[in-house]
Order: sequence, then structure tokens, then C-alpha cells
Amino acid sequence: EEKKKRKPDWLRVKLPIGKEYAKVRKLVDNHKLHTICESGSCPNMGECWGAGTATFMILGNVCTRSCTFCAVATGRPPEYDAEEPKRVAEAIKLMEVKHAVLTSVNRDELKDRGAEIWYQTVVETKKLSPRTTIETLIPDVKGNWDALYRMIEGGQEVVSHNVETVERLYRRVRPQAKYQRSLDQIKRTNEAGKRTKSGIMLGVGETIDEVHKAMDDLAEHGLHILTLGQYLQPTKRHLEVAEFIHPDQFEAYREEGLKRGLKYVESGPLVRSSYHAERHVNVPI
Ligand code: SF4
Ligand code: SF4
Repeated sequence: EEKKKRKPDWLRVKLPIGKEYAKVRKLVDNHKLHTICESGSCPNMGECWGAGTATFMILGNVCTRSCTFCAVATGRPPEYDAEEPKRVAEAIKLMEVKHAVLTSVNRDELKDRGAEIWYQTVVETKKLSPRTTIETLIPDVKGNWDALYRMIEGGQEVVSHNVETVERLYRRVRPQAKYQRSLDQIKRTNEAGKRTKSGIMLGVGETIDEVHKAMDDLAEHGLHILTLGQYLQPTKRHLEVAEFIHPDQFEAYREEGLKRGLKYVESGPLVRSSYHAERHVNVPI
């Protein structure tokens, strides 16, 4: 049992100590931004920040939901900051970010799910940095499709929404979410003419057949880009890792995904939903 849980060699990474990394980190601190990259467990910071890609969390750092894999605090979020879109856009410009990934907590208590802040952040970023490409990793709007359409109309190149796991494990992994609702959100995003992307964490107890089924469902709902990575437990209090998936299996999934109609599959132990995100902007749709 213990042996199974020890991190295998393929998950060891170099510490992000490059010059570029230090520069970006300092700017992020000075602007009081919430980046997902530095908030703890992402192993790719050196590579991503060095390549000009960074992920920003908007709408605060307290979430109305309690996904069991996630290190973000659950609670009633404080009032959102109407100046945040401008601040994020300015930081992206100062940091010379080439590809910005924007994500947020869930704000289920807001009628518009935070859509207006989402829209403004994309628009302000494009205004200050017209050459910067943007991926928005948006939350489950809980079927509020008007909120969805507002979130995705600011001119971003990629719209991401993670299903995170296979259908059977939803209650354990994303208790406030619904598998079919997330698929429907992806379908509507595709129908609105957007480049769609989603991600699944592996190693939480899913079977190979269940992953294949999820890939079929996603392709059927108009998904273009899929990321598959190894789940890692952020703290002892979070969902346990059930299994470390071998790199060969990740490669097999990548091939299966392409066979099943997805346009691009990023699959590997260290893949996170925003890993290599700059490459996804040009995936033909
Ligand atoms: Fe940041 Fe995403 Fe890269 Fe991790 S994979 S460092 S969260 S951009
Ligand atoms: Fe974390 Fe997102 Fe789930 Fe909130 S909705 S708990 S931020 S994964």
C-alpha cells in the first residue's frame, strides 16, 4: 500500500529558480495577484513563466464550492473588486505575458456567476496587450447560459471548462457539479463558435474504460482540446491519490483521444490544464 503511494520518478521536477521566474514572481507579489501557478502545487512554474504563460485567478480566492481535490478555501466570498479587471490587465502588460490563462473560483452566490468581471477582464487585457492571447478557464455556470455567453464574448482565443473526472466519481470529486451540465456547457460554448478545451485529472480511481467513455462524451459535445494529467494531493486533508498512472498509459490515452475525434490531446503525468496552453491557441476548430 505504502509503496503504491510513493511518488514515482517521472513526477520529480526541477525547482523553478530561473531568472525569468524570479522576475515574474516579484511582479505578481507587488500587484497582489492570485496566480494559480504559485498558490502551491503546480510543478511547471519554471517552464511556463519562462515561456511567457501564466495563470491568474480572478474573483477572489474564496470559493462557494468544495471540490475534494482543490486547495482553494471554501466559504462565502467577500464582495468582488470591480477594479480587478483593470489590475489584472495591467499586470499582464507589465509582466509581458504572451499567453494569459484566466480562471476563477465559483461564485454561485452571484446572480451573473461573475460573468461581467470575466468579460471586463478579457476586454481590458486585450485593450492593453492586443498581441497577448487569452484562455479563459471558466467555472460551471450552473445552467445560467446568459452568464456563459457573457463570459465568452470578450475575444478570448480559448474557452476552457474542466470536467475534472469521469461521471461515476463526480459525487466524490466535484460534489456540487453535474457531469452532464458541464458537458452541456461545453456544447453551448462550441455552438457559440469558440475553441473549447477541457481537462481530466487521472489517478483518482477511474478505470480506462471510463476515461474512454468521457473522451467519447466530450468529443460528442464539441470539445476540441483535452488535457490529461496526474492528480496530486495538495494536502493530507484532500482526496487521496488512488494510483500513479504510468507515462505509457498517458500516451495511450492521447492516441485514443485523437481516434475518438478530439483535435488535440495534451497527456502526461505533469500536465496541468494550463500546461503548454500557448500551443492550444492555434488548434483549428
Ligand atoms: Fe501556471 Fe498552469 Fe503553468 Fe502550472 S501549468 S505553472 S498553473 S500556467
Ligand atoms: Fe476549487 Fe474550482 Fe472546485 Fe472552487 S470550483 S473548489 S476553485 S476546483
